[in-house]
Amino acid sequence: MNNIPTVMIIFGGSGDLAHRKIYPALFNLYRSGLIHDNFAVIGTARRPWSHEYLRGQVADAVHETYGEVDETDLEAFASHFYYQSHDVTNVEHYVTLKKLAQELDERYSCQGNRIFYMAMAPSFFGTIAEHIADQKLTGSGFNRLVVEKPFGTSLETAEVLNKQINGSFDEEQVFRIDHYLGKEMVQNILPLRLSNPMIKSIWNKDCIKNIQVTLAERLGVEARGGYYDASGAMRDMVQNHIFQIITLLAMPEPASLADTDIHAAKEALLDSLEIPDEAEVAAGFVRGQYGGTETTFAYTSEPNVDPESKTETFVAGRVKFDQGPLAGVPIYFRTGKEMKEKRTRIDIVLKDMAGIYGETGENSITIEVDPASEICLTINGKTIQGGGLRRERLAYKFSPEEQAQVPDGYERLIHDVFVNDSTNFTKWKELKRYWEFVDAVEDAWQKQNESGQKPLTYAPYKMGPAESKQIFANPTDHWIY
Ligand code: NAP
Repeated sequence: MNNIPTVMIIFGGSGDLAHRKIYPALFNLYRSGLIHDNFAVIGTARRPWSHEYLRGQVADAVHETYGEVDETDLEAFASHFYYQSHDVTNVEHYVTLKKLAQELDERYSCQGNRIFYMAMAPSFFGTIAEHIADQKLTGSGFNRLVVEKPFGTSLETAEVLNKQINGSFDEEQVFRIDHYLGKEMVQNILPLRLSNPMIKSIWNKDCIKNIQVTLAERLGVEARGGYYDASGAMRDMVQNHIFQIITLLAMPEPASLADTDIHAAKEALLDSLEIPDEAEVAAGFVRGQYGGTETTFAYTSEPNVDPESKTETFVAGRVKFDQGPLAGVPIYFRTGKEMKEKRTRIDIVLKDMAGIYGETGENSITIEVDPASEICLTINGKTIQGGGLRRERLAYKFSPEEQAQVPDGYERLIHDVFVNDSTNFTKWKELKRYWEFVDAVEDAWQKQNESGQKPLTYAPYKMGPAESKQIFANPTDHWIY
């Protein structure tokens, strides 16, 4: 792999994301040669760290992730890190930062290339983008901006942020991270659909009855009650991860695997996304809040959560497109906190083709995204004795050795930023459509709140409110997981 000269500036260099994800990912890119001699990383945050202290933190982060590593390699890697105490709201601090970036650019021959990584609270993204522009922090080579989620809290706020970013970065230079797009089995959706004639030929409304996407979390809101109460499951999980998964499942075949063609196919699909009206939200969506037990808090008793809160910690809903291979096929989703287990799973349920065997069990394709990485086909075969049918699961899975080789999503995505591959990032037009959908649901819920309706309370560590099975358009359908 080529050595790609770059000065990378990380806003939030002392934060959790930088420590747990970004520094270990950069170390692996260093070991693989993508960044080597000609790179420098500036970590910034307000606390008064020294370069040496940051380097110690980087070494700790690498050890915590990978255990023992070659110490000479690690020392050489960490020597490329510099710390700049910087308050992102203070314009003067950008002058110092710019000077340091220029010095390091010369010292490491980085050819004016810059990657800016916004790894801090989203409320600061717009301010940072504006100051990068007004203080002219961009370099004379390539300039790329990595933005963490969430990108806005509604279409309106996302539009404001996008405008601020467009002050110094064109759309091709913006890499909006959705770390689900870095996951092995999410990246496997298109190859599964498009490289297998037997799957490609059934990927249509004649064969697929419905699709079910479940993104279940075992934990509650923990210490993030304040943030979560202003967000909720719809904004926190559906607007990004669930919609990206659904888009990959339903998009038409792109003209090629080039990032521009992939995004063109996604956009063509999303143009036909049906935006739900109030009646559709009432019939096709269920929202809930986890209740308490003797040993656990109900959501509304969690620290920093409004006791009268109507924020949903669970949502089930349905999505439909007018175009694409799954035009008209209902796609159901659900996500929530304090569910039975942590699991992300996609079930593609096929129509029951009644034939000479009468009613058979449904065939299905299950993609296990987390914690397992697996694809299973559930099919019917003959019982050994008697004339009946039995169901079997055929699994495509990794050996433990293969599983160990699967890179972390962040490593993949940061690699893609270096090589300028935007395939697995969210483009503005996609994001805009997702927000249009989410805003429509939120507006309908707001009206429900005003008329006295509340989210349903569900028992923790189960599969959410029982009412979530009522969203199926066909009453004989059901969640298969
Ligand atoms: P965090 O641990 O709270 O880190 C926030 C960082 O921002 C710290 O380095 C903090 O350092 C710095 N900061 C705060 N105010 C500042 C200011 N005025 N000027 C300069 N620096 C300031 O947050 P995080 O968990 O790393 O999350 C960062 C972003 O990543 C968020 O957008 C989050 O949604 C996203 N994300 C995080 C994770 C994760 O696993 N952590 C996963 C997915 C997405 P000082 O206090 O020293 O200034």
